[in-house]
Amino acid sequence: MQHPVTPADPQLPIAEALQLAVSKKADLVGFERDQKRLVAHRDDLSKMNAMGLSSLPLECIAVPESSPLLHGERTRLNQSEDYSRRLTAYFPVYFVAALYELQSLMQRFSVKAFVIGGITRDLLLFKEKRLTVKDVDMTVEGDALAFAAFLTENSRNFTVEEQFPEFGTAKVRYKDSLMFDFASTRQEIYPHCGALPVVVNRGVPLVNDIIRRDFTVNALAFSIHELGHVLDYANGFQDIQTRHLRVLHPVSFFEDPSRILRAMKFCARFDFELGEETALLLENFLEYGGQCYKGGGERIKQELKGFLAAAESQCKSQWIRFFIEKECYRLLNMETAYRPGAETIERLSGVCAILPEIESALSNYVDKDFLFDVYLCFLCADMPEDEFQKTTQRLGLTRHEREFAEHFRRLKPHVVERFGTLHDFSSAAEIYDLFHGIPFVTLGACLVELGFSNPKHMRTVLEAFLKYKRKWEKLRLELDGNDLINLGIPKGKQIGKLLDQLLHAKLAGQVPDRLDEIQYVQNQLGFEAETQSAESSPTGEQPPC
Ligand code: ATP
Repeated sequence: MQHPVTPADPQLPIAEALQLAVSKKADLVGFERDQKRLVAHRDDLSKMNAMGLSSLPLECIAVPESSPLLHGERTRLNQSEDYSRRLTAYFPVYFVAALYELQSLMQRFSVKAFVIGGITRDLLLFKEKRLTVKDVDMTVEGDALAFAAFLTENSRNFTVEEQFPEFGTAKVRYKDSLMFDFASTRQEIYPHCGALPVVVNRGVPLVNDIIRRDFTVNALAFSIHELGHVLDYANGFQDIQTRHLRVLHPVSFFEDPSRILRAMKFCARFDFELGEETALLLENFLEYGGQCYKGGGERIKQELKGFLAAAESQCKSQWIRFFIEKECYRLLNMETAYRPGAETIERLSGVCAILPEIESALSNYVDKDFLFDVYLCFLCADMPEDEFQKTTQRLGLTRHEREFAEHFRRLKPHVVERFGTLHDFSSAAEIYDLFHGIPFVTLGACLVELGFSNPKHMRTVLEAFLKYKRKWEKLRLELDGNDLINLGIPKGKQIGKLLDQLLHAKLAGQVPDRLDEIQYVQNQLGFEAETQSAESSPTGEQPPC
């Protein structure tokens, strides 16, 4: 649909662009660039103004005139596809049973509800495979809390686990198998850039809820009352088919900048591309967001984790490169002047090529945060100290995360030297000393660093570590410090030294049991007594009494 466009300078502040639109009674204000017309809608200018972003230039939220992102284009039902006949082909039986029960209870309560977000997206994305379902996001056209209570009262299978009246949401368990998150459909506003949204209307028609979501592919609604019908208000079907990720409106990244990281997570996970206007809006946010985005560290960390912990793949490395090259890492601290050098960029985007092998070899030992923690080590490795401190604070890193990153910052320049001595025939004691006490994350990061220069040596080190874990990590002496004191070793540093020697002897198989350990200590005592007397009398003669 063509709209009249009021021409304006791309740098015109948003407040003035809005005034211009109002005075000209125009919906669109825009400018020509590279033979294209870019425009901003009056409603979007108004949203930016209300968030206190009135001094930013018009170009921040300008998109091609033909863009479906322009207001009003995202609120028509494009398509409704019927999956009802094939429900059990896609979903596990217990989930389908829960949906049928929900449907009949909903009819009694007279509300409409939809499964929205990840499950519906994945249903359309992976038509060929049966999905596993655990947590289900539900949106209810009406009062979600009242509906959750009704479910519990009218069915033994549903139990309200938690309620959040201030947000109008409830967690409801279905038997032992599923957790439903019920939320009322709503409209939200963002008081400022990156703020938590404020609900302005609850129980609105689904079509008015869609616009608050992050991407078109996450705005598909799977109907429960017409079980199996998927409603598409935002062209999500088409974006799934063409594998594009698109925001729902031009102000999206200014409202919630953590969506930039979500975008990267989904692109890396599904091998999607950013839609043209979404890429433009993302770059505009990074260009101008520094002037307005201060908070939100916790959410940024959560989404950064989602992105960096996405399964390793060819396309993930492409998105990590994008993350660095487009300077998305500035979301961690928009005021930063730090720009990683070419070597850091190369290393960070190369982590993907090496880490999967390490992760799979260590899979019995590492937890779900391993990938994130290793990437974090590389992300922080070359930061100047003050930048590192600010980043850890802003992201609210846990003590462990901070320690991993700090440890690797110190180790990185010495990794090759430190592990260089290890070879296929290294002794148990050498291997033990190298790995004892090293956290998995630090080791993972060191292995990646080694892999950059010498993948073969990286594998030797990895093998040695696995051997250490299997054979020696849990090796304990029979004797302890008190036993050594009882055997006549004076208190002090010598105890620790002797315990170390004893452990090395044990690793070499020289002292298999307690008696051998005692014998070893006594030999050492005798040896030291001899050495001491030899030292005090070089001739070996006893001094005269
Ligand atoms: P995943 O498969 O990673 O769980 P998901 O889409 O289900 O993907 P969630 O983080 O559980 O991810 O979010 C559920 C839904 O809530 C999303 O699909 C989206 O519609 C909405 N949502 C989540 N985060 C945001 C956000 N920052 N801005 C707008 N909508 C969001």
